[in-house]
Amino acid sequence: MNTKEIADLQKNYLIPTYAPAVALVEGSGTSVWDAEGNEYLDFVSGIAVTNIGHCHPKMVRAVQDQVEKLVHVSNLFYNEQQPRLAKALSELSGLPGAKCFFCNSGAEANEGLIKLARLWGSDKGKYEIVTMRQSFHGRTLATLTATGQDKVQKGFGPLPEGFVYATFNNLQSIDDAISSKTAAVLVEALQGEGGVIPAEPEFFSSLRKLCDEKGILLLCDEVQCGMGRTGKWFGFQNYDAQPDAFSLAKGLGNGFPIGAIVAGQKLADIFQVGHHATTFGGTPLACAAALSVIEVIEEEDLLANTMMMGAYFVEGLCDIALKHKQWIAQVRGLGLLLGLVLDVPALPLQKKLLGKGMLSLATAGNVLRLLPPLNVSQEEIDQALKWMGEACDELHAEMAGLSPNPCRCGIR
Ligand SMILES: *Cc1c(COP(=O)(O)O)cnc(C)c1O
Repeated sequence: MNTKEIADLQKNYLIPTYAPAVALVEGSGTSVWDAEGNEYLDFVSGIAVTNIGHCHPKMVRAVQDQVEKLVHVSNLFYNEQQPRLAKALSELSGLPGAKCFFCNSGAEANEGLIKLARLWGSDKGKYEIVTMRQSFHGRTLATLTATGQDKVQKGFGPLPEGFVYATFNNLQSIDDAISSKTAAVLVEALQGEGGVIPAEPEFFSSLRKLCDEKGILLLCDEVQCGMGRTGKWFGFQNYDAQPDAFSLAKGLGNGFPIGAIVAGQKLADIFQVGHHATTFGGTPLACAAALSVIEVIEEEDLLANTMMMGAYFVEGLCDIALKHKQWIAQVRGLGLLLGLVLDVPALPLQKKLLGKGMLSLATAGNVLRLLPPLNVSQEEIDQALKWMGEACDELHAEMAGLSPNPCRCGIR
């Protein structure tokens, strides 16, 4: 089928919740191809999902081997892959005594974290969760309520009770939001959907202290910034404080649907038999896929590559930002979760890049989010920078009468 045929079929039979641009039919590494055979440089990675690139041979082999052996048994029975993956994540987390629960998506992982915090607080009269405005936690009723943005909540009321909003990177506002009913504070170490905004180091460590003082939990949503994306296994590892528990999904299965809760000692044994469950959670197939992702990140030293390529990319992006300082405000992010912050909407730039053969993502209105796979090469970044430079020059020429703006270019 060509793109038009696919789009027509979709228009007739899919509930129109999405507005896709191109029909993609094949992928390999950092490249994807559309139905007409055009190649694109993929700097979206399925929104921080395909972190080891498309169709990595090691993952293909792991999934093929497991699919021929055993796909699903339910959690009425043991399957070896599940505790093996849990052990790997527990060790990587650095949280002493951490244990895992597996599910199928980011929203579901956060939903589980919320339930875990509520059960922990149930004998103390604590159930409220403080979350951040401009955060993103998912689209189920509880997680869209946790998501402090009107645009995802409008029309879906009544919303579940027990969520209170505060301002990210503002400790005082969190302190103000905490009451005797607060069970937990839930934050992203780096807000992805909110506009690629990293936590300030001082904010993150003070938040840990504040939660300890108040006797409440600190929970991290690592769905987007986890699994190596920021150059550390988990986003919070860029800071000198640890959460009590965190959620994972996106990059965990490199596209195979799997989510997880990783709970440190304090929360590891709160859920008991019957408290929480999901039929597809931790199937042998999903866990084999995730185990292969972890192996590839370790064997190919992709955390180091993420740091190195991230720094290289930032340098090139700063050159572009400086050249167009009238309308490019900042380059920010961690590792390979980067944002080019514009003073104008980011969608026209995203569209120009698509026309040149590069996938990128406009977010929070004026931020161009860039998420190449963690094994991206320097040549691929050079190609992306070349196209971005050209696209920005073209946009610059189209925008007349801009008043000069001081450039705040720099990382963090
Ligand atoms: C994408 C995302 C989610 C939701 O994950 P789904 O798998 O789409 O349910 C939650 N939190 C963060 C930070 C995300 O980026």
